[in-house]
Amino acid sequence: MPELPEVEITCRGLAKVLIRKKITNVTTRRSGLRIPFPADLSKNMHGTRVRSVTRRGKYICINLSNGYVLVIHLGMSGRIIIADRHYEPKLHDHFIISFSRYQKIILNDPRRFGLVTILKSDELEYREFFRNIGLEPLSDKFTPDLLRSKLKNKKIAIKLALLDQKVVSGIGNIYACEALFRAGISPKRESSAISYKLLSKLVNSIKLVLTEAIEAGGSTIRDFVHPDGKLGYFAMKWQVYGREGEPCLCNHQKNIVIKKIVQSGRSTFFCPICQR
Ligand SMILES: [Zn+2]
Repeated sequence: MPELPEVEITCRGLAKVLIRKKITNVTTRRSGLRIPFPADLSKNMHGTRVRSVTRRGKYICINLSNGYVLVIHLGMSGRIIIADRHYEPKLHDHFIISFSRYQKIILNDPRRFGLVTILKSDELEYREFFRNIGLEPLSDKFTPDLLRSKLKNKKIAIKLALLDQKVVSGIGNIYACEALFRAGISPKRESSAISYKLLSKLVNSIKLVLTEAIEAGGSTIRDFVHPDGKLGYFAMKWQVYGREGEPCLCNHQKNIVIKKIVQSGRSTFFCPICQR
């Protein structure tokens, strides 16, 4: 599943090729994904130019010159392909935008949990899927104090709280595991009972692991294609994720290995010794 770094990389990749380009055609190849494609989608896009590409949580916002924002969410398996005019639509290509100078972008989404909609930019923050989004973990507003206030009544395990988009936006399974490992916090710890000092470490770890992943060019196990069309198998080395049974990296005693448990149906990887 694409996480914040992959979406950020996708946005940067799109910005590189789309800014100032004019939309010349919009094609939908089915009636919708998670929600129907809006009836006025093509009408509100045609002939406008791309002003900027920004990210909010895991939503890609393509800001258009007419004051509308094309909002795309990649869902579980969505990816955006950047192609030229010779591109032939393939299976699961649901949404295609053609631009001046023969550029195309294609949303391919086999599982169809993605979303495409168009909104006026000034109503963006009030719409249902943006209204409840938590803070951006990479913004200066995401501080230990803020995280403490979000967690103070949460009796659930910290790993699950980090996946809650209302607590902090855009952190998925991989980055939650990695950030908790770096902060030395057990994924099973009750959220409200974690000390301020450890929350400070956690905030730093979240920022660090996301920044490293963005710098590495995004990362994922599968289902993600780089905006330039290449597969997203980047050189990001996970310290705990996917390492069940392997020696813990920060421990010299070789008999200490990474464990895997299941929390709310998702795999959690952690070191039972380093993470308390
Ligand atoms: Zn360890």
